[in-house]
Amino acid sequence: MQAAVLARPGQLVLEHRPDPPAPGPGEVLAAVRRVGICGTDHHAYGGTQNFFDYPRVLGHELAVEVLEAGPGVTRVGPGDACAVLPYLSCGLCRPCRQGRANACERISVLGVTRDGGLCERMVLPEAHLFRLPGLSLDQLVLVEALGIGWHAMARAKARPDDTVLVLGAGPIGLAVAHSTRSRAARIVLADLSPGRAAFARASGFETLPAGEGLESDVRDLLGGALPSVVFDATGSRASMEAAFGLTAACGTLVLVGHTRGPIEFANPGLHARELDVRASRNATTADWDGVLGAVANGSLDATGWINHRTTLAGIVDDLPRLAADPGAVVKAVVEIGGAHDG
Ligand SMILES: [Zn+2]
Ligand SMILES: [Zn+2]
Repeated sequence: MQAAVLARPGQLVLEHRPDPPAPGPGEVLAAVRRVGICGTDHHAYGGTQNFFDYPRVLGHELAVEVLEAGPGVTRVGPGDACAVLPYLSCGLCRPCRQGRANACERISVLGVTRDGGLCERMVLPEAHLFRLPGLSLDQLVLVEALGIGWHAMARAKARPDDTVLVLGAGPIGLAVAHSTRSRAARIVLADLSPGRAAFARASGFETLPAGEGLESDVRDLLGGALPSVVFDATGSRASMEAAFGLTAACGTLVLVGHTRGPIEFANPGLHARELDVRASRNATTADWDGVLGAVANGSLDATGWINHRTTLAGIVDDLPRLAADPGAVVKAVVEIGGAHDG
């Protein structure tokens, strides 16, 4: 079968790989049908992703169709369309025992630290397949990105009187904003890219230009106050550092993006404001259940984000352009195979 392999930074190639083996107990053989491309893939291509090893089959945002169920599989069967939880955890460490397998001490992530889904077929553990009857492949392929936002929302513990600033209006910033929408008084997104800000406005959010003047702009918008909850969804060192000064006293700062190397903040400001600073990594199965429920009841619809579609062969040509200009599309999706619609 064909697989798109990132051999080293800057070199994505189509390779012939052996077909996967028959599924073992608790496993399924699945046809990969949709693969979302995101900032993690751009950074891996550019050689700046924090947790990436080469060579690697990319692809961690996956919608698959079950072909064959192994012994003991009961929840899914041939023909079922599923989203794939790409975070593989040990189940034994302290975070896993506390229900926080998203931050497992021995975590392995499909498409990042082990081979992912930019290929035709793969064997997957049944426990990592999520489905709700009626959801389309386009809805399912977006669950992973939405889960990042849902988990960040849960980390922030936003209250109905909170004002929220989301730094970065790419797919992760949008996922945070959509997840938080019904749980806070007001949400503002900021982005350097006019195109991304315009897309966020078209999605019903207030926006501001990111950069130097953001603190005074956000104070103007919020009647002189700073937002009580700030999310950084940029992974940019400058944005993450500025976020400390944009969070109101006794507020919460959630760092969803991540960057290589240290970031700096002014300790007196952090201390005087008694900020809660939290990281947010991946998502839990509870977050995924929340996302699937919201997608199924129509309160979370991100299918309009998909504005670039390509094929397994096409992504080899497209990824360099997407990585060089990530603001050019909201969400690019690779389509594999063709018999199953939607
Ligand atoms: Zn992603
Ligand atoms: Zn663990």
